[in-house]
Amino acid sequence: MNSPYNGKFRVSQEFKGTAHQGLDLVGVDNKTIHATVAGTVEIAGNNDPNGFGIYVRIKADGTGYRYYYGHMSKTLCKVGDHVTIGQAIGVEGSTGRSTGSHCHYEIRKTLDHGSYLNVSTISGIPNALGTYDDGYRSASVKYQVYAGGKWLPDVTNTEDYAGIFDQAITAIRASISSGDILYRVRLYNNNVWTWQPWVQNREDFAGVAGYPIDLVQMKVPSGHIRYRVHLLNGGWLPWVTDCNDVNDSGYAGMSGNPIDAIQCDI
Ligand SMILES: [Zn+2]
Repeated sequence: MNSPYNGKFRVSQEFKGTAHQGLDLVGVDNKTIHATVAGTVEIAGNNDPNGFGIYVRIKADGTGYRYYYGHMSKTLCKVGDHVTIGQAIGVEGSTGRSTGSHCHYEIRKTLDHGSYLNVSTISGIPNALGTYDDGYRSASVKYQVYAGGKWLPDVTNTEDYAGIFDQAITAIRASISSGDILYRVRLYNNNVWTWQPWVQNREDFAGVAGYPIDLVQMKVPSGHIRYRVHLLNGGWLPWVTDCNDVNDSGYAGMSGNPIDAIQCDI
């Protein structure tokens, strides 16, 4: 099953041919609409009050079929973008001719109104009211830091950064949606910067309250992780991918400079 939701969703109206040329879907886990085909974005936005409202139209690579995602609250792509399956293209909404938040998902053979295809057959989404799960999960890393005497809220991927500018981070905690993450920090104690033990997931945290951190290393045995840090007395340093704990290359930070924020992505 290939749905625009990457997770759980509900079919709120079936495909009925001419009477309803697509499937109406409602996100359960989240409201992000993802591309269900690789292709080129032909329309992104175009607020049509009597129809799809704010919508995205993709011309599929190969078949040339048109994929429509209607009634969005906003788009996350632009005309001319080439998108791949699973890429976020918009957010579910209720713009256009709509009575509640949903995504009208339709596939046409050509641009012609009458050329609709059976979206249920093509996507594998059952043509029946009900709640389904497409089984797809995008990977995410969740992390938080200790600064200013407390743990700050969790951050997921690059939706935000963890930290407060001008307050040194003294501990880090992280986990990923599937599999293990390993991380360690170097901190200042007894006049020397020292690497602390590796920590796996959230069984523990990396750091010691009150001691500033200058370097961070992260690795994901089953994949990759990208991360960067912000200097207490400076800006963001370049992104780093993974690390090499053998020769100490591949870390985020600048020796001797405490950090006050971190961002991770997977
Ligand atoms: Zn509809």
